[in-house]
Amino acid sequence: MKVRIDEVELRGKRVFLRVDFNVPFKDGSIEDDSRIRAALATMKRLRQEGAKTVLATHLGRPKASGDPEFSTQKILPRVNELMGGGVGYVGAIAGEEVEERKAALKPGEFLLLENVRYDSGETKNDPRLAQELAKNIDVYVNDAFSCSHRAHSSVVGISRFVPLSVMGYLISAELEYLGMALNSPRHPFAALLGGAKINDKIPVLESLVERVDTLLIGGGMAYTFLKARGEAIGSSLLDGEHLETVGRILARAKERGVDILLPVDHVVAREVKEDAQTQVVEGAIPNGLMGVDIGPKSRKLFREKLLEAAMVIWNGPMGVFEMAPFAEGTRSVAEALAESKGCSIVGGGDTASAALKAGVAGKMSHISTGGGASLEFLSGDTLPGIDCLKERA
Ligand code: AMP
Repeated sequence: MKVRIDEVELRGKRVFLRVDFNVPFKDGSIEDDSRIRAALATMKRLRQEGAKTVLATHLGRPKASGDPEFSTQKILPRVNELMGGGVGYVGAIAGEEVEERKAALKPGEFLLLENVRYDSGETKNDPRLAQELAKNIDVYVNDAFSCSHRAHSSVVGISRFVPLSVMGYLISAELEYLGMALNSPRHPFAALLGGAKINDKIPVLESLVERVDTLLIGGGMAYTFLKARGEAIGSSLLDGEHLETVGRILARAKERGVDILLPVDHVVAREVKEDAQTQVVEGAIPNGLMGVDIGPKSRKLFREKLLEAAMVIWNGPMGVFEMAPFAEGTRSVAEALAESKGCSIVGGGDTASAALKAGVAGKMSHISTGGGASLEFLSGDTLPGIDCLKERA
């Protein structure tokens, strides 16, 4: 277990807090500020303890340093609003001005740096940048769970040049829930996986197949599984490259006695478009038609299994949920999880937005803030941004 901020003395200390404030923008304003909200508990603790905090994040993927589209200045007003003021700004990452402003910080104050990715060293974990970020810092606090699978200067490199590195509350909550799913799940334990890309999910499938009692697979990836079982899938999404791996995962699941549920019926269409003509097909999908959502029988079966589970980990939508005619399958599993008395853990990214869209986000036990990071964690990999933090004695 890693040391958390409330276990160390912070009074008067100069802290470097790495957060993920990479929020989406629409028409020039922040569309969803949940990433900022997710770090507030840590920020409030630092304020309460009288720490002097340098705040760092990336924003988007700037190609050239100084591109105003990616300036963190755009998020400053919302951060101040949510913190009730007290967050200053410096339009640089390192250098004389940053050092002067750091030195002038009063207890409880924050200083937001410019986008750390303006420096090309950041994504290369360049020690030169890490050292600059660490200058005059007493404690490094990582609360950017969603960046912790990346070895970057402001996430990992900095820890080598500061006396103490600890985790914030957000990372602590992520480790509590995802760690429980990985190491001490409640049984029956079910994994509900969907989405389009199998490639991203092979390691997590291989890890979960050793741990779960039930494996439910929907979404575009289900068709590669159905194909591996020799079923006709029409023109549904197929990842031919991974057919063999998928076959191996199915065989391993069978060997372990895992209950495997694949869709038994499908909402099909000729094209993926908002006004597509749809129909429900049971079993084999005719040529020219593609499965775009799980059908009503599958929804019922999935729902029953989800309600039986004491713990469910969910990653990936059951259909093309962004379009109304194909959103029902995803909504129904989200609703089943909301009704369930078991522990429901939702992966980040698309799955979190699906839960939000179904209006049941508040009923989940935990919604991860990290898409890629949570998949890597559940695959059993160590995340470098967490690995580099101080271990509890
Ligand atoms: P992923 O990034 O792999 O989790 O995939 C998420 C995407 O999968 C979403 O944008 C969905 O629209 C898409 N998706 C889900 N089910 C299907 C399907 N049956 N066919 C094609 N795409 C799908």
